[in-house]
Amino acid sequence: MALNVEPLQKILQLECEKGYADTAVIGGLDRFLRRWAGQAVESITTPHLLSQFGKLRLDDAKYASLTKAQRKQWISDVFTFLPQVEGMETEKGEVKPPEESVAPPAPRRRPSGGQRVAAQSLDSPITTIKGVSTAMAAKFSRLGVETVRDLLYFFPHRHLDYSQRKSISQLTEGEEQTIMANVWQAQVTMLGGRRGTEAIVGDETGNVRVVWFNNPYLAKNLPTNARVVLSGRVSLFGGRHVFESPEWELVEDKELVHTGRLVPIYPLTQGLRSRQVRKLVKQVVDQWAWQVGEFLPPELRERCNLVELPQAISQAHYPEDGAARENARHRLAFDELFLLQLGVLGRKHEWQESQPGSPFTAEAPVLDEFIKSLPFELTGAQRKVLGELLADLEKARPMSRLLQGEVGSGKTVVATSALLVAAANGYQGAFMAPTEILVEQHFTTVCELLSRTGNQVSEEDNLRSFSGLLSRPLTVALLIGDISQASKQGIQRRIASGEIDIVIGTHALIQKEVEFHRLGLAVVDEQHRFGVAQRSALRQKGFNPHVLVMTATPIPRTLALTLYGDLDLSVIDELPPGRQVVKTKWLKPAQRASAYGFLRRQVAEGRQAFIICPLVEESEVIQAKAAVAEYERLSHEIFPDLKLGLIHGRMSAAEKDKVMHRFRSGELEVLVSTPVVEVGIDVPNATVMQVESADRFGLSQLHQFRGRVGRGSEQSYCMLLAENPSEIGRERLDIIEKVQDGFQLAEEDLRLRGPGEFFGTRQSGLPDLRMAKLSDVALLELARSEAIRLFEEDPKLGQPEHRLLAKELAQVWQQGAAEWS
Ligand code: ADP
Ligand code: MG
Repeated sequence: MALNVEPLQKILQLECEKGYADTAVIGGLDRFLRRWAGQAVESITTPHLLSQFGKLRLDDAKYASLTKAQRKQWISDVFTFLPQVEGMETEKGEVKPPEESVAPPAPRRRPSGGQRVAAQSLDSPITTIKGVSTAMAAKFSRLGVETVRDLLYFFPHRHLDYSQRKSISQLTEGEEQTIMANVWQAQVTMLGGRRGTEAIVGDETGNVRVVWFNNPYLAKNLPTNARVVLSGRVSLFGGRHVFESPEWELVEDKELVHTGRLVPIYPLTQGLRSRQVRKLVKQVVDQWAWQVGEFLPPELRERCNLVELPQAISQAHYPEDGAARENARHRLAFDELFLLQLGVLGRKHEWQESQPGSPFTAEAPVLDEFIKSLPFELTGAQRKVLGELLADLEKARPMSRLLQGEVGSGKTVVATSALLVAAANGYQGAFMAPTEILVEQHFTTVCELLSRTGNQVSEEDNLRSFSGLLSRPLTVALLIGDISQASKQGIQRRIASGEIDIVIGTHALIQKEVEFHRLGLAVVDEQHRFGVAQRSALRQKGFNPHVLVMTATPIPRTLALTLYGDLDLSVIDELPPGRQVVKTKWLKPAQRASAYGFLRRQVAEGRQAFIICPLVEESEVIQAKAAVAEYERLSHEIFPDLKLGLIHGRMSAAEKDKVMHRFRSGELEVLVSTPVVEVGIDVPNATVMQVESADRFGLSQLHQFRGRVGRGSEQSYCMLLAENPSEIGRERLDIIEKVQDGFQLAEEDLRLRGPGEFFGTRQSGLPDLRMAKLSDVALLELARSEAIRLFEEDPKLGQPEHRLLAKELAQVWQQGAAEWS
């Protein structure tokens, strides 16, 4: 006699869901357990299983007297045991009459043949699952699924709603619908010139024809009089309804998987069929989801209103209804964001607490004098941010701050103020930028700003000294590769001796040849090239300086908290008054000639122009080739009389810098560039930005291109060319034409493209987010505040109730760790 484990399973699952309160059965579980055990004991045939069964003491259940923790453990033991008794079955379970409702009952498994491996765990490879061959495992591996746990976390990207059953007479064409019917006949037939299956099915309201194209094998799976559930679209053919290639499922003594419910749609790969994956996942979820350990502390779960993890996993795959699916997603998304936040906060903590930093005093007189001397008033946003920086600098904990501000929002003045405070405190400051030309630009700007109060007392190559600012002369140095070896060594020596107060250079500054006497503040322009690795390089030099990272790429707050969660955020969200708006126009292919004409007229008026080449996906080599070809075409066919320059990613840094110099000095009139090349440079005389295949760039990138012009006093223009834009491309072009605000564009970009593409590649080194949407600000804020709270309470996650959480955290951060450390 077959052992039906299903009632027990259902009850125990319910009991889990209800929080082990002994409420799954009216009057308590014990009586039910004893009764079930009484039946079960007769069907257990092997001594080994019998002894295990005995240990569970089902026949003498005292569930009511257990503590919650004991109940949980005990149920988990039963769940481990059940698959084994079920596996020993040989007979097929009796077929019950079909249920009238197609709403999914609680999870349940089919009896399976053969003994299962008892030592299976969540971390076992999926080949230990019945029915998974090595070949199939290889296919799953391509989807990133190796273990049983991976499969539990292999979530569908969506569900089809087949939960609403109709009778045949209620069918309407066009919509997704579900019916339950009897098969009258099914046969192989020719459909559209190929063999397919045709069936006639009926219920008490009528009959309907069903066809499956290209699938003659189905006919034999649909015996006459079988009960079948069909879900899919109905069309009209010769005035009559026809189901076209619906999902189908025989009504048997098991839960519906493919029809009649919210049906999961999984990512597939070659050789994996959706029916196969659904069945397997169902089997695994039913057997294993309940054994996944809950790692969130209970009071956190309650506070945040999160369902338990096993339930969330199960409902994310096979939800009872839309609300259950949403609760599941909410919980799982919370987990991802919470673990991510714990990870980044851990890093921040490590960075800030492992070594004490250098507290500065604000040096108000020096700073006031400097700010008074500026040719403009600081904007409100600049003052606010400067206040935030000063508050950080006064702490013994090193600052770790990200400053965001649009191009031209005045970050450099703010940074210079902070560097001055460092110098006034007797510390050195370093100011880093990614390219030599940007470094030179910063050097010029900083010296110019300082020279308004200070008198320049000396000027050597790459070195300026100012008196009048501090009680001693203040010395600023430029350190780039493009200076003589002797001069470089001279500067390095004076950095080491402490003679130099502020050094401006490329990231070479943090390399080993450069030794600081007393580094107190590092300012880094453009964040994406200066990650955690570089920050730890600074630390390894024996300093723990305050760090200010600056970026002109507007990053939506949610992303910033995620990717740069280890940094505090400051935003200059206001441009100095009187900034011009760059006129932006999306041009149709037919307007290309007039675009060239416009560009030519601007150049004739003494202005300069950028032309960004079409985006070529394949590789930098091909990209460079395409750029060379475009450059040739433009110089020979379109602008033979103008002076054109070209830069692309295959040129050396020195070559690129040379071309940039010629452009900036006005020697070149038009600069042709691949999109990959950073042209983050001030050329106030440039008034035209022409972007080819503009529809293929993200909004943030287009905005960056546009920010290259409009930096002088002349009206500037951005011309966007697109050959044959897709719908989403058109949407972007419409937006960029209208919207000037970088943050608003970044939000739109995130909405249109998702976070992966937002940053170009998966360069973040962070754990994957599968369930979380970065647009879900509220959940992210919740996860962050909970992470901070936990961190304050137990930063090392050393308390026993956080043991599982610590384990989960380590697991999730495993892959990212290599890139971060
Ligand atoms: P960012 O580095 O944020 O792109 P910069 O610091 O280079 O911006 O400033 C851009 C220009 O605006 C510079 O010429 C600078 O002198 C000027 N500027 C900065 N702050 C102000 C202000 N508050 N009012 C007017 N002009 C300003
Ligand atoms: Mg700048």
